[in-house]
Amino acid sequence: MSRIDAIELNRVCMPLISPFRTAYGSDDAIESVLVKMTSADCCGWGEASPLKAPTYSPEFAAGVFLVMREFLAPVLVGQDIASGENLQKRLAAFKGNYFAKGGLDMAWWDLQARRRGQPLWKFLGGCNPVVDVGADFGVLDSIDTLLEHVHAAAKAGFKRVKLKYAPGWALEMVAAVRKAFPNTVFHIDCNSAYTLDDLPMFRELDGYELAMIEQPLAHDDLIDHAKLQAAIRTPICLDESISSLDKARKAIALKACRWINLKPARAGGLTNALKIHDLCAEAGIGCWVGGMLESGLGAGHCLALATLPNIKYPSDIFPTSRFYQKDLALGFDPDPQQLARLTIERAVLSA
Ligand code: MG
Repeated sequence: MSRIDAIELNRVCMPLISPFRTAYGSDDAIESVLVKMTSADCCGWGEASPLKAPTYSPEFAAGVFLVMREFLAPVLVGQDIASGENLQKRLAAFKGNYFAKGGLDMAWWDLQARRRGQPLWKFLGGCNPVVDVGADFGVLDSIDTLLEHVHAAAKAGFKRVKLKYAPGWALEMVAAVRKAFPNTVFHIDCNSAYTLDDLPMFRELDGYELAMIEQPLAHDDLIDHAKLQAAIRTPICLDESISSLDKARKAIALKACRWINLKPARAGGLTNALKIHDLCAEAGIGCWVGGMLESGLGAGHCLALATLPNIKYPSDIFPTSRFYQKDLALGFDPDPQQLARLTIERAVLSA
């Protein structure tokens, strides 16, 4: 049995080496909530990384911390939790709040894997211990700078390149990259910046042989994405819209996408990510794993997920030195000094 004796919540603020710019704004630091779940002499870690402000999704780090402390963690502490499914059932009365549920769910999986002395990827049923990863570039100061970055990424062996795409950093940028790199596999991520009124632009993008267009339309939409997918040749990949297994099921039924970006943080944790993965495999929809600029702790969960068999496109998993001067994690545990330095709010709930 695995009685949860204590849950520790740490809201951290991790300054980025340089701001990460996307269609929803610019972040110069990433806020996450690190979750430590203890059972007897064993503990596991999870990370909820919704960003500091509700710009990627309706959730945000201070809110996630509060929801976990006031509602979610209290129904888990002192309980015997036999499965991820059981954990999710206990949290189901609380609507939405997928990032908050995800941080707790990931900590539970990590705890169980450690109790069994198994690496997390094996415990999840992974089969590919070597994972393909891609490079990901935000909006930069100039196209020339971007071309230098893409060149370096291709030289470093990244299997594909992802480019953030936003008004002002759009068709001209894609045309320049395709011209300079005619054979490189790349795709764009619109982070929900567009509407169906932009159909002519998406038709034009069909000419650049992109691997996919990630989340072109509203963050919670499926129906307009289905209309857009029927009107263009380039596959659509949904990210923000897939906040639950139910949304994945509906997206597939509506033919709203041909790819799904699987993020354990966004989908309510590994329990749901595994189910979405299996559902996509049955439906012939490929997945790959995305990130939220997590610390090494959250990136470890993403890496474990990326070993699953229906991960068919290089994932967004990077050495955290790309974003942080000094990562918060030392392997799969936080560095205690870094954790103390970066924590801005902390709570401990015990049985
Ligand atoms: Mg995305």
